[in-house]
Amino acid sequence: MKNYTDLNPGKRILMGPGPSDVHPRVLKTMATPLVGHLDPDFLEIMNETREMLREVYQTKNELTIAISGTGSAGMEAVLVNLLEPGDKAVVCINGYFGERMADIVRRCGAEPIILNAEWGTIVEPDEVKKVLADIGKVKLLAIVHAETSTGVRQPLEEISRLVKEAGALFVVDAVTSLAGIPVETDKWQIDAIYSGTQKCISCPPGLSPVSFSEAAREVMTQRTTPIQSWYLDMKMLGSYWGQERFYHHTAPISMSYALHEALRLVLEEGLEERFKRHKLHSKALVAGLEAMGLEMVVAPEYRLPELNSVYIPEGIDDVKVRKALLSDYGIEIGGGLGKFKGKAWRIGLMGYSCSRDNVMLLLAALENILQEQGYKAAQHGIIAAQQAYRK
Ligand SMILES: *Cc1c(COP(=O)(O)O)cnc(C)c1O
Repeated sequence: MKNYTDLNPGKRILMGPGPSDVHPRVLKTMATPLVGHLDPDFLEIMNETREMLREVYQTKNELTIAISGTGSAGMEAVLVNLLEPGDKAVVCINGYFGERMADIVRRCGAEPIILNAEWGTIVEPDEVKKVLADIGKVKLLAIVHAETSTGVRQPLEEISRLVKEAGALFVVDAVTSLAGIPVETDKWQIDAIYSGTQKCISCPPGLSPVSFSEAAREVMTQRTTPIQSWYLDMKMLGSYWGQERFYHHTAPISMSYALHEALRLVLEEGLEERFKRHKLHSKALVAGLEAMGLEMVVAPEYRLPELNSVYIPEGIDDVKVRKALLSDYGIEIGGGLGKFKGKAWRIGLMGYSCSRDNVMLLLAALENILQEQGYKAAQHGIIAAQQAYRK
């Protein structure tokens, strides 16, 4: 037999757009011996996970579960269950993930009505109002809360109100927002929402927490056509996770352990504390970057603390810098997507990765690498960050 090498990837600090670093307690939990997926002990873990997910989503929604699959599976589950062929769906696009939603809407046989906004900016409620007034009856409006491709935080409350007035369902992508910034599912009258485990929840990728309102469940029961996807059929998944415990598929046991532990960590810290922590470290990071003379992509009021997009200075080689960060410091950051490819970096401060030591190390490393490429920082980033922490 060929001698395959031992699995031994390099030591990394994950400060990109996800995955984020995972807390040792979560890693340890994943090594817990398996039980069967219908074992009473496992059912208790599923029940507690649902309970904790409701807390993190700030909802009372009965249908709140973790889909087997990454965030995109949650996106697909929400759209494929709510849309029938011929339905109209407004899809707001101000980045890469809005585009993905539109693609799925088309594959459902529904008609996406695209509302475009400039990448790096928010979708304006006035634009939503106009589109909804123009097109008449529409099944749902879908929007990304935290656009990971640009670092924009999309305010949702006003748009929610407009969507409700139009009698449509409000669908939200919370993959990068959940457990990093407030996500108030019930208060914002969100009908269907999905997330992923590997961003601010700081769990490995592999599960997608979703939640559906009573109105969304009603729409699903009123369907006249079957759901195209067998695997993502919420009716069957609901009875697998519900009282019936009807076998649908085998839940990924070790991942379920991991999510349970990661959610416990989120709630032990407390949502408010967690949001505060993300804000604090982002503030220090931005202070450091700006002191070095770099410019942030997003206007301050719409910046995501967990995903900081910054323009690459003139004359600096994007790939060389990221390679040096990885090889010399073990730090991963993200490159730009779409119109920001080669023009911006995306620095993640998600969950367990969001810490003072990471901020300081990244600023020092970046300053050093930039200097090697001939860029002269206006001031030292780490000094500005220190000052931000002292305030
Ligand atoms: C990461 C991400 C997704 C996709 O999640 P995967 O886990 O990669 O499938 C969807 N939407 C947003 C906003 C994301 O950041």
